Amino acid sequence: MSLIVQKFGGSSVADAAGITRVARRVVATANAGNQVVVVVSAMGDTTDELLDLAAQITEDAPAREMDILLSAGERISMSLLAMAIDSLGARAQSFTGSQAGLMTDAFHGRARIVEVSPHRLQTTLDEGNIAIVAGFQGMSPQSRDITTLGRGGSDTTAVALAASLNADVCEIYTDVDGVYTADPRVVASAKKIDRISSEEMLELAASGAKVLHLRSVEYARRFGVPLHVRSSFSDHEGTWVIPNPDDTITIEKGEPLEQPIISGVAHDRSEAKVTVVGVPDIPGKAAQIFGIIAKAQSNIDMIVQNISTKGSGKTDISFTVPITESAAAMAALEAAQENVGFESIDFDEHIGKLSLIGAGMRSNPGVSFTFFEALHKAGVNVDMISTSEIRISIVTAADKLDTAVRAVHTAFDLDADSVATVYGGTGR
Ligand code: ASP
Ligand code: MG
Repeated sequence: MSLIVQKFGGSSVADAAGITRVARRVVATANAGNQVVVVVSAMGDTTDELLDLAAQITEDAPAREMDILLSAGERISMSLLAMAIDSLGARAQSFTGSQAGLMTDAFHGRARIVEVSPHRLQTTLDEGNIAIVAGFQGMSPQSRDITTLGRGGSDTTAVALAASLNADVCEIYTDVDGVYTADPRVVASAKKIDRISSEEMLELAASGAKVLHLRSVEYARRFGVPLHVRSSFSDHEGTWVIPNPDDTITIEKGEPLEQPIISGVAHDRSEAKVTVVGVPDIPGKAAQIFGIIAKAQSNIDMIVQNISTKGSGKTDISFTVPITESAAAMAALEAAQENVGFESIDFDEHIGKLSLIGAGMRSNPGVSFTFFEALHKAGVNVDMISTSEIRISIVTAADKLDTAVRAVHTAFDLDADSVATVYGGTGR
């Protein structure tokens, strides 16, 4: 008997009909002789709506109360799904994150998993039930409070449970048929990827591909959990994320033995650009600036330092931060202006980041040329550049981002002949 963890995102359980459809799928998996653990997200845009509601009450909600509020979204979908399964004549029990044994640290809104003890899930499975778990939440044993893992965290709940229950596979059900060479909402000719290494998937997820939560990919790689990303609206085979590149993979007849050069193009609109203008060009200033940002708990992504204008002894340092963390970063920098000795700060939240990802690019010359030539021909101006061994990223104006993504996708011959299906969701 196999143990399968199935995770359904908000768009798969957006309404009663969706919940019933998911219930049928879960019951079919159980009837095929599998033990099934289901992780659900909140229905549709519930989490965003709860955030909007809280913002109407106060701009400064206590983090503890915010987590209790947000965790309610997943409780609604888990109990309704249990009812739907019951009405189909199968047996299911739903559990909150803490009931399922998901223990985290005490950082509200971005808690990290410290321990998973799924005894109650094991018991209910052994009794022949389907176990349903509320995604994206846990409990801190220290504070005894409910925590959430951060937006999109249900994927990580599913992978953590799959690892700890030693599941055969963790299936991530979403509103598209798998991982694509670009976001099918932006590039209609994007192609589904059949198989991708964890390494490339990590870069894609880190670069803004929203199909999988970054932490879930890291977790799956660490614990060797095979992920299968697929649609809850179709029976098509999705994308397999292969955890260990050393694992022998079966190559089907006729399949190329070498991986493609490029696996995909990701984009991200969630960051803002901060430029610290007129920084004294002497050793230690960058350390001072990034020390201030680190203290403000902001995560920095791309960094660029200009050469100092001749004779001025001053330089500009630009970097990107998540928009949600930018207010704290700006406040911390402003407070330190005199101490660091810079002239001013520029802030721009109308930027977009595009990343080209592919493990094959390290052994193929000319990738950068094709990339920048495509951007040039599309009239896209590049603001910042950063690279890794398997990624090139640029920052450009937000309103140029979609054009840039399509141009790069085409330049690397990633376009499919058919149009990708987006089954649901608002993309919010
Ligand atoms: N409902 C949460 C969110 O929208 C968690 C998730 O969907 O994974 O971020
Ligand atoms: Mg979600």
